[in-house]
Amino acid sequence: MPNEEGLLHLKNTSPVVSKRFHKVLIANRGEIAMRVMRTAHELGLKTVAIYAYEDRLNMHRYKADESYQIAPEGKYTPVGAYLAQDEIVAIAKERNCDAVHPGYGFLSENAEFARKVEAAGMRWVGPRPETIDDLGDKVKARNVANACGVPVVPGTDGPIEEIEEATEFCNKYGFPVIIKAAMGGGGRGMRVVRKAEELAESFERARSEALSAFGDGTVFIERFLDRPKHIEVQLLGDGKDNVIHLYERDCSVQRRHQKVVEIAPAPTLDESVRDAILADAVKIAKHVNYRNAGTAEFLVDSRGHYFIEINPRIQVEHTVTEEVTGLDLISLQLHIAAGWSLNELHLSQDRVSVRGFAIQCRVTTEDPAQGFQPDTGKIEVYRSPGGNGVRLDGGSGFMGSIITPHYDSLLVKLTCSGATFEKARRRMLASLVEFRIRGVKTNMWFLQHLLTNDVFMKGDCWTTYIDDTPSLFA
Ligand code: ADP
Repeated sequence: MPNEEGLLHLKNTSPVVSKRFHKVLIANRGEIAMRVMRTAHELGLKTVAIYAYEDRLNMHRYKADESYQIAPEGKYTPVGAYLAQDEIVAIAKERNCDAVHPGYGFLSENAEFARKVEAAGMRWVGPRPETIDDLGDKVKARNVANACGVPVVPGTDGPIEEIEEATEFCNKYGFPVIIKAAMGGGGRGMRVVRKAEELAESFERARSEALSAFGDGTVFIERFLDRPKHIEVQLLGDGKDNVIHLYERDCSVQRRHQKVVEIAPAPTLDESVRDAILADAVKIAKHVNYRNAGTAEFLVDSRGHYFIEINPRIQVEHTVTEEVTGLDLISLQLHIAAGWSLNELHLSQDRVSVRGFAIQCRVTTEDPAQGFQPDTGKIEVYRSPGGNGVRLDGGSGFMGSIITPHYDSLLVKLTCSGATFEKARRRMLASLVEFRIRGVKTNMWFLQHLLTNDVFMKGDCWTTYIDDTPSLFA
């Protein structure tokens, strides 16, 4: 099978990375830091972890070959430490790292940081900084899509500064609309407006929220689509004019615009729509001669598909793509950062295929009965599922672990695969039932409700399904 050959090739040629790289710093924490380290170690690389004082007991610190606290205690907030660009670059240089992997979140979409890493003579495991500049901003990304003839959600073609422009758009397209921060991410920085009388206030709020959350008050408006699906395409480019896709994921199961469950491939997508989306995603990536891994996101409704944005980094849900393609995305990222072309890695579009289905659930320390409020405390019991087709990507899930209020509430990613969507679903359900976490509240009972819900079982959820379905909480 072409896939296995590709994989074998990567395994046999892991010195291709270690010949150019010896040590990589992971500018992140928790599960993604550990995920990157695992592959780096497999490839024969040394790893350097960084951690904030408040995070000194986090597992990622202990899994690395070396780990360093960022600045002295008290200089940064718990999150701010992972954003301390100069300190992080200095640690990487001092420890003779050849590359910096940013993971997701934190500095992963920060072109300035990418430039600093490169200026210090190290490789940035991600797209060129110019690409991050062009695609990390949703308004600019829409323009790139327009230039490629890829459909976007009807919206303002540029940022809007005056309420009159917002009113004009709404008069033309009607309500509901969604006001989005150009620099928003992670489901934040968006406001849905359903009535004309709410527009002015929402517009002002969106702008000031964008400014305080992302340091940039630029906003634009799109029509708010009714019950769309969120379909995204995993892309891989080598920056040498070669781009391929690793098929799609269905990430429609969301809560307040944030993904909860992800599936690969999309279980109910029309074949012709799938082909069009895959082709459009590649078109955009080719247009910018994309380097490294990225994701093109689309919304799909009964009328068609619409590009919404590109995430120029590895994503939380890359796991499901790995499970169905048999490829290690972190390994590919490191190889591409080391300068290998897709050809040299024996990767071409016809060598990538999908086998079976994979589902990922984000197990979080949140209480679904209390509006998903994050819970904190000590994990007293932790008995995880396992076995054939069950994958766990975690960081702080273990007995005695202290869950602090400082960071994202993602505890562990549970990924289950199977020959069909139904088989993967059953495996996921059995794994959730088997999983025991006590001492801190989790969303696992809610995930069980979801996995046994008839709309989910048919693979038919839309992006607001959870918000529209109170029975899931009962
Ligand atoms: P983020 O960068 O915060 O992830 P996205 O632009 O990717 O934001 O959108 C996240 C989610 O918000 C989408 O998956 C979808 O559920 C919802 N969304 C975004 N734009 C629209 C739209 N125009 N109509 C309906 N839902 C939307």
